[in-house]
Amino acid sequence: MPRFFVNPAAICGDHISLDTETLSHIRVLRLSPKEMFIVCDGNGQDYRCTLEGDTAKVVSISANEAEPKTRCIVALAYTRGERMDYAIQKSVELGAAEIHLFPAERCVVKYDDKSLPKKLARWEKIALEAAKQSGRGRIPAVVAHSDFKAAMQEAAQTDLALFFYENETDRTLRMALDNAQGFASTSLTIGPEGGFTSDEVKLAVALGLLPVSLGKRILRAETAPVAALAGVMFYLGE
Ligand code: SAH
Repeated sequence: MPRFFVNPAAICGDHISLDTETLSHIRVLRLSPKEMFIVCDGNGQDYRCTLEGDTAKVVSISANEAEPKTRCIVALAYTRGERMDYAIQKSVELGAAEIHLFPAERCVVKYDDKSLPKKLARWEKIALEAAKQSGRGRIPAVVAHSDFKAAMQEAAQTDLALFFYENETDRTLRMALDNAQGFASTSLTIGPEGGFTSDEVKLAVALGLLPVSLGKRILRAETAPVAALAGVMFYLGE
């Protein structure tokens, strides 16, 4: 069923006013008068609606069931164009609560204050479209950091801060999850195409992040978050 997000303020009793973009999107679908679509308030509540003139008429309300119970933040080093797009899209489909992006020494691309806002708007749009497509009840925020340390400090705020490092030989993802014994939030930090430098690993560890292996094969920067998040969601029964 088609899904659209609206600002909660647009919901008034059993009518929801639709912004022009959403309305034209719905019109393009050429829904018959009785055909339903879902309007989501972005706070986990789904409204099944039909179109009545320019507004959505609410038929029924239910809690969105697609949101994972555990908050998973995915933190990714900036990667080149379509790889970044792919990693963001897949992370949203797999249930990431937030996507954090950060610079690292071996990043191939560098963004400055001028180029970053434009890129961020694009990444937010990708997250929104992926949230709609995958039936999410919330639109994951995309947070673009300009400092490595600040990004690691934020990742460290979660109950289980995992730092994916291909040179970690002892601690597997399963071990880290088994040892955590219940956590309400987690962060999965993934490095750039060229990997993390040893100084970056040291800093992350000093801040409390846990180096974790994803196995004996080296995954590309856009594959690693998909594998890591799929593994965590599987483990959590999500
Ligand atoms: N240093 C590498 C590749 C980096 S892969 C090289 O150039 O050979 C990009 C990122 O994916 C890494 O920084 C890491 O976060 C993650 N990653 C890839 N394979 C991994 C593995 N087997 N275990 C843990 N993390 C991995």
